[in-house]
Amino acid sequence: MKQITKQYQAAVYVRLSKEDIAALSGKKAESDSIANQKQFIFDYLKDKSDIHIVSIREDDGYTGTNFDRPNFQLMLEDIKAGKVNCVVVKDLSRFGREYINAGKYIDRLFPFYGVRLIAINDGIDTITKDSSDTLNITLKNLINDNYCRDISLKIRSHLEIKRKKGQFTGSFAPYGYRKAENDHNRLEIDEYAANVVQDIFRWKLEGMSQDSIAKRLTEQGVLSPMDYKRSQGENFKTGFETGSKTNWTAVAIRRILTNPVYIGTLIQGIRTKPNYKIKTVIVNEEDKWIKVENNHEAIITRRSFDLVQRLMLLDTRTAPGQTKVFPLAGLVVCGDCQSPMTRLTIPCEKKKYQYYVCDGNRKKNGCSSHRISEEQLLSSVLSVLQEHIKLICEMDACLKEIQNTPLRKIHTRKQEERIQKVEEQISRYKQLKISLYEDMQDGLLSKEDYTDIRTQYDLRIQEAQKVHVQLLKEREMELSDQTKPHEWVQEFIAHRSLQELNRIVAVECIEKIYVYEGKKLEVVFTHMQDFTKLLEHIQQLQNEDRKEVI
Ligand SMILES: [Zn+2]
Repeated sequence: MKQITKQYQAAVYVRLSKEDIAALSGKKAESDSIANQKQFIFDYLKDKSDIHIVSIREDDGYTGTNFDRPNFQLMLEDIKAGKVNCVVVKDLSRFGREYINAGKYIDRLFPFYGVRLIAINDGIDTITKDSSDTLNITLKNLINDNYCRDISLKIRSHLEIKRKKGQFTGSFAPYGYRKAENDHNRLEIDEYAANVVQDIFRWKLEGMSQDSIAKRLTEQGVLSPMDYKRSQGENFKTGFETGSKTNWTAVAIRRILTNPVYIGTLIQGIRTKPNYKIKTVIVNEEDKWIKVENNHEAIITRRSFDLVQRLMLLDTRTAPGQTKVFPLAGLVVCGDCQSPMTRLTIPCEKKKYQYYVCDGNRKKNGCSSHRISEEQLLSSVLSVLQEHIKLICEMDACLKEIQNTPLRKIHTRKQEERIQKVEEQISRYKQLKISLYEDMQDGLLSKEDYTDIRTQYDLRIQEAQKVHVQLLKEREMELSDQTKPHEWVQEFIAHRSLQELNRIVAVECIEKIYVYEGKKLEVVFTHMQDFTKLLEHIQQLQNEDRKEVI
């Protein structure tokens, strides 16, 4: 009698997740590649005459922690439609890594539809299923679940190590950069976008608002970061509809202007997932962020970046119809009640006059108006600033002169001599200590005397070492004063021929302008502490030189 074997219409299911590639060593990842999984299954099925492959379902780049996978779902539809009654996978972990759901399919859904499941590597074929197999499957799935948790932790720590080393681990490089072709964890400059980033910073420094920068870029037909990403052919997908053009927004501009990635600082690990089963992303505490400075080539200088951050803090609202902020916006404060001063336009016959008025007065909190015309304010502040710059130029010249005088050179030589003397002292006492010990050994000194004298020598050595450290510190400081010109000094000096107060100069040089009753002004410049320190330093050097002459 001829036995009729049941014929199976089989779906081959293969899956590869990004985690697999990232977390496993190259060899293992290779053996789990889609092509290898398929070949493995084909080889296995070669002599199984009762199994006929009707479909091959591939989920490439999908995690096994849920069943939200397009091709898995298609396979389910085939099963429900009766087109497929057998599923073949390399191992159960391909099928699913989460035991509650995987169990739901294996123990309930598949038996319900009469589907035969073959997991080759796990030795599972439900046609031969008995009770121990059920256990086996459940167990395997549990292990897969643990493996999943484990691998999720592994990937996390793996990523953390990479981040600490300054390796970029994001899916997409920030606008202005791209991932280096030979090293996907390294950022390199994308010339086109980097130029746009530089434009954005420059325009901001010139006084443009985020909104007008966004409008200008859109008008110039510059692709928004999102569109640019798409145009570069990156596999980019968002929750929004794809294909339609997106415009530059003030928010996008702000994001760029405040991102330290452009000065070469890489900050990662800001967001995290609580655990592998949950897709929700939470923001980490700031002390958990991983920050690496000077990590990659900068697009923006630190100075420009710091200036822009200062600009963003100031009130930079622009009047309707204006694209640029006023030079002193956000800097003028009432000296008496500390309220900000508001800029008002007062039409007067044929001309319009701009005034700054105390905001406290406008809100009727008892202050007077402190009214001062913008023209007057600008010209007064300009002349005060010019004086200040002149003073800094003189200080700089003075410093250079002091350092170049013969007296200063004598001072340096004397300092060297002092250091040398102290060093000699130290080594002499050390030598004495040794001979002291020898004297004791030879019976020339009693043990008590030896201990007494040795203690004294030790004290002298300690004192000399203190002096030595102090002298070295002084020398180092003076050397750095000579070789490194103060950055802020150079910033002020750069404006020595300043004729007009513009936004950049105002933000760079002025901290606050206080307007008191009776139009009395007080201008606080930036770097005032440094200024005072340098002034004291110069006076000290001058005094020292005088002493040396005497
Ligand atoms: Zn006031």
